[in-house]
This record gives sequence, C-alpha cells and structure tokens, in this order.
Amino acid sequence: MKISEKFKRKRPVLSFEIFPPKKDSALKNIDETLKILCELEPDFISVTFGAGGSANCNRTIELASKIKKEYHVEPLVHMTCLGYDRKEIDSFCAALQSEGLENILALRGDRNPQFPEKKDFPHACDLTEYLRGKGDYCIAGACYPECHPESEGKVQDIASTKRKVEAGDEFLITQLFFENEMFYSFVEDCRIAGIQAPVSAGIMPVINTAQIERMTGLCGASLPPRFRKIMERFDKNKEALFDAGMAYAVSQVIDLLANDVEGIHLYTMNNPAVARKLCEGIRNVI
Ligand code: FAD
Repeated sequence: MKISEKFKRKRPVLSFEIFPPKKDSALKNIDETLKILCELEPDFISVTFGAGGSANCNRTIELASKIKKEYHVEPLVHMTCLGYDRKEIDSFCAALQSEGLENILALRGDRNPQFPEKKDFPHACDLTEYLRGKGDYCIAGACYPECHPESEGKVQDIASTKRKVEAGDEFLITQLFFENEMFYSFVEDCRIAGIQAPVSAGIMPVINTAQIERMTGLCGASLPPRFRKIMERFDKNKEALFDAGMAYAVSQVIDLLANDVEGIHLYTMNNPAVARKLCEGIRNVI
C-alpha cells in the first residue's frame, strides 16, 4: 500500500526508522526490535541506505522485504543518489519491483570522500523526478527544520524543499530536532511557500553523549539549553542518562501530538531497549 494514502486517512501517521545491520550477528537485535515496534502497529517502518556500493542496497531491500513479509508492516525504502548513475538506480528499482516494494524515500545522501560522486543525480529532486518516470511509486523526501547544513539560508532551503515536492515527493520527513518550536515554525514556512505535502516530525531519543556529538555534528541540529542541562546533569550515569533522554523524547512526542502533528517518525537506532521504552511512553497517547 502506498504510504501517501495513510497520510490522507489518519493523523498522526506513526513510523519508525531502522538501519540494516552490517553483521549477521546483529540480525537478532533487529528481530527483537521489530517485534517490540510492531506491537504499536506503526503505519510504516523505514530502512536506511548506506553510501556507495550495491551491497548496501541489497541489505536495505532484504530488510524492507522482511518487514513486509514477516511483520506485515509497510516498509519505506531509503535510496540515495549522489554515488549512483542511472543504470544503478534502474537496477535498484528492478530489485524493489521484484519484492513488491513501492514506497521510496528519495535522498541525495551525504558527501563522503570515500565514495566518488556521480553526475546523474546531483540533488534529491533529480532522483524523485527520475523515479516518477520509472514506475508507480509513492515517493517521499527529507526536510530540515534547522536548514540543511549546505543551504545558504532559510529561503534557499525552503525553495529546495518546494522543488522536491514539485518533482513528486508526496510527504516529507524531517531531520531530527530537539526543539519543537523550530518544527512548528518550519511547517508554517512550508505552508506559506505553498508546500502542502504532509510533514512527519523526526524524533531521536538520545541515550548517550557520544551519540549527541556525532549526530549534531553530522546534521547540524542545535541543542536547546533545557536539553543541554539534562545531558550535562546525567552525563556520568548511564542509566540516568538513558531514562532522561527517553523522557525528553517522549515529552517532545506528547507536545507534537497536542499540536496535531501529521506524522511522527522515531529514530530507533535498532536498539530494543529504546524501542521498548518509547513504546511504553507513547502507547496510550498515540
Ligand atoms: P537535497 O534535497 O539534494 O539537498 C541537499 C542540499 O542541496 C541542500 O542544501 C539543498 O538546499 C540543496 N539543493 C537541493 N536541490 C537543489 C537544487 N535543485 N539546486 C541547488 N541546490 C539544491 N543519508 C543516507 O546516506 N542514507 C539514508 O538512509 C538517509 N536517510 C535519511 C532520512 C531522513 C529522514 C533525513 C532527514 C536524512 C537522511 N539521510 C540519509 C541524510 C541525507 O542524505 C543528507 O541530509 C544529505 O546531505 C541531503 O540529502 P537530501 O535528500 O535532503 O538532499
């Protein structure tokens, strides 16, 4: 089923994000995580896509297919384009079609000196446009409440978001953020710019400080003083930090629900403990 249909029928659309484990030994964790997540009957589960090489694509498609067949939940397959040419994207599409996968998150991918960039798809909107001509897919895109780090500013960032929706993205999922006001203001800017696609709010529970440094360094999400204080206070106590990080994420979700958000997309990091705590925290409010 096309995920865009779910956005037409209900609010909020609930989704989780997982990544394909690199080692077979981590597959057990994935099953444990998926079992917990599926108890909440998510509308879809998205599966990330690594940069460079067809092995990444195979792992993503394998896991997406497992989610569909074994857990009966609609998967959203991430697909990046900067490191691939048309022929390679064609072969990903053929693999998707043979598994009956019809929902794609079309992404450019981060620049990585390890993987040479190809010329066919310089931006995510180029991939969306190409996929539109390839088959009857439901295509989604990424967006950035605090601007993409390479954007010149808000105006250019919103213009890029608009371009990908005009190219065919039917809904958007945001980069993680820790301050809901930024999300509300971003959605308002989108509407003013004439972007009507539903926007799902990306929330990541933070459970250790190394993870915060890595994530904010990569995606440019800012840390509000309230959040910083919590992290500093519990920095040395692993269990306390876990509880505090989870409570913060759950409180973000509750505020989003109170503000009638169109979608909530939870980054689970494949961690069954995170999945369990999240599910406990939102079971009665979602
Ligand atoms: P784009 O939309 O192409 O934007 C990138 C930059 O180019 C922006 O600054 C934008 O303003 C600018 N731009 C866009 N179009 C144009 C244009 N036509 N002309 C000029 N400038 C333009 N990465 C992975 O490798 N694998 C994943 O699975 C993955 N999943 C993600 C899931 C979500 C929900 C999000 C938010 C991000 C994810 N990423 C993933 C990271 C993503 O690939 C990076 O953020 C990447 O740097 C940008 O991707 P994009 O699709 O937003 O790019």
